[in-house]
Order: sequence, then C-alpha cells, then structure tokens
Amino acid sequence: MSKNEHWIDLRSDTVTQPCEAMRAAMAAAPVGDDVYSDDPTVNRLQEYAADLFGFEAGLFAPSGTQTNLIALMTHCGRGDEYLVGQEAHTYKYEGGGAAVLGSIQPQPIANQPDGSILLSDIEAYIKPDDMHFARTRLLALENTIGGRVLSQEYVAAATALAHAKGLRTHLDGARICNAAVKQGISLRAAAAGFDTVSVCLSKGLGAPAGSVLLGPKAFIEQGKRWRKMLGGGMRQAGVIAAPALYALEHNVQRLAEDHENAARLSRGLAEIEQLAVTTPQTNIFYVNMPEAACAPLRQTLEREGIRASIGPHTRLVTHLNVTAADVERTILTFKAFFKDWRA
Ligand SMILES: *Cc1c(COP(=O)(O)O)cnc(C)c1O
Repeated sequence: MSKNEHWIDLRSDTVTQPCEAMRAAMAAAPVGDDVYSDDPTVNRLQEYAADLFGFEAGLFAPSGTQTNLIALMTHCGRGDEYLVGQEAHTYKYEGGGAAVLGSIQPQPIANQPDGSILLSDIEAYIKPDDMHFARTRLLALENTIGGRVLSQEYVAAATALAHAKGLRTHLDGARICNAAVKQGISLRAAAAGFDTVSVCLSKGLGAPAGSVLLGPKAFIEQGKRWRKMLGGGMRQAGVIAAPALYALEHNVQRLAEDHENAARLSRGLAEIEQLAVTTPQTNIFYVNMPEAACAPLRQTLEREGIRASIGPHTRLVTHLNVTAADVERTILTFKAFFKDWRA
C-alpha cells in the first residue's frame, strides 16, 4: 500500500479496531477473578446484556463458537440431535464441535434462498420416539444468516412450531443486532421465541473479543460448567468485558450506517457489467466475478489499500471502520479495474 495509512478492510466485520473510548473503558475497568464470579465488569456486562435482550441471565465467553457450543451442550446430551441449517455457522463453520465435543448429532436441513428453514422441513425432520433414532431436542436458527434477516413473523412461527413439538430453541445471534436494527424492532423483540441466544460482541458491534450467551438462570448456571470444561473460564476478564459493554451501549443503532454503506457499495458495483451483485439487507453481500479477474483485481486492490476476500464468489462486509468515503473509493477502484480488464 502506498497512498493511504488507513486500510479499507471489507473481509469481515471482525477486523474493527477498538476506539479510544473503548480503550479507556478497558483501562478503567474494575476487575476480579471471573471463575469465582468476582469480576464486577463481567457481571455488569452479563446483567446488562440479559436485560437488553429480555433474558434472566448471561454468560460471557471468549468467542461465539464457544457460546454456541455451550448452548448446544447444555440443551442436548449424548445421543441427542439438533436441527440446523446447512449454511449455519454452528453446523458448517465451527469445526463440527457439537458432534466432536458434545456427542450431539446435527440434522442439517436446507436453507431457503432467504436463509430460512421451511416449517414443513422442520416438522418432517423431527424424529419419532424410537430407539433407532437420535432424540431430536433442539432447533437452532441463525439471524442474520449470510447477511439476510429472518423476519419476526418467521421466527415466531418457527419457534412456536419447535416448542409445540417439545423442542427447545437456540439462536446463533452473532448479528442479531443487525437484524433488529434493519427491522426497526427492539433487541428483545428480535430475541423473542428463543430459549437461548448467543450474541457476538466482536462483529459489527466492534469489541475486540467475546460473546455472551443469554438464557434462563438455571440454564446459564449449567452452561458455566461447560464453559469451564471448554477452557473459557477467564480470570480478570473485565478488561475485555468493558469494551464489550461499551459496544452494546453505544454501537447498536449505528449499525444502520453499515447497512447504508453496504447498500451504496452494492449499487456502485452493480453498475460494472462483469459483476453480478446481490442486494444487501444488512452489512454483508456477495459479488460474483469471472475467475480470471480475481488475481489481477486482488493486486490492484492491495495497491490501493483495499482488503477483500476476492474470489469468484466474493463476500463483502461493511463495519464501523468503513466510511462512506471508503465506499466511494472502493467503487472507483473496482470501476477503473474493470474498465480496462478483458478476459
Ligand atoms: C462469527 C460468528 C460466530 C462465531 O464467532 P467467533 O467469535 O468467531 O467464534 C458464530 N456465528 C456466526 C453467524 C458468526 O458470524
């Protein structure tokens, strides 16, 4: 990179830098040993998050992979099964942890183009009580999923169906705040219907690390045992809980800017004839491009200080360190490249 000291990083919303106020909150955080539940900042974060999303209790853990796994291992035992989308992070992108570490069988089900799972599929995949089958215990959904929002109506119907069939419900709400802001509903409304929700604080909310698992008090108490076993019992974790608390207090409503920037970026790129661009609902969208363009485009972007996971099916993500000016510069760089590029 030559001209800019600031990288425009469109690979993920996990690449954000903690702002000065977050760093100040980290420095000032009162701390204690969280394995003894002694860390006042972790306790405050857990209580604040539980109240914000409408749950009794919360559990702070180092990652969303771990909060999802804790939830699955608390909902399901050995020989149980959970229903989950084929594209879901818990199923596809978490190393098979539920099966490997939890002895929990996943029953993956096709996601529809809008990210939902058909209610008729959910119903059809619930196994009867028969010794040949794993015991179907849980429906796990994800919102947003690949940047797509599951509507409040769909979530209400799917979770009601699961409950009527005796299942429990978990939401991988890594980006639940994006889903709520997009729909103009409260975080409580977005979490309604789920017995437990995992919320990532290190995605668009901009905290350096951590996720929080929310649920009933007794469930969270059990979950705490799994967290310890999985190596997620931290000591003076207030130093990372403080920026997470700051993120929940300050960075939820501003996600609308990321959605607006993603929309602007997608509209600009859609004007390039060699590209096929999806319309973002939130901060994530996809661009299909000719394979032969990928390597030279990657070089051009690198030279211009733009990082993106360029491939034939490229995911682009906006976040709080991507400005409207960054979006304009990215569009211009793409346009200049494709103006000259021939297969
Ligand atoms: C990032 C992410 C997770 C897991 O979070 P990590 O903190 O990276 O372990 C879970 N679900 C979804 C949808 C995610 O995007």
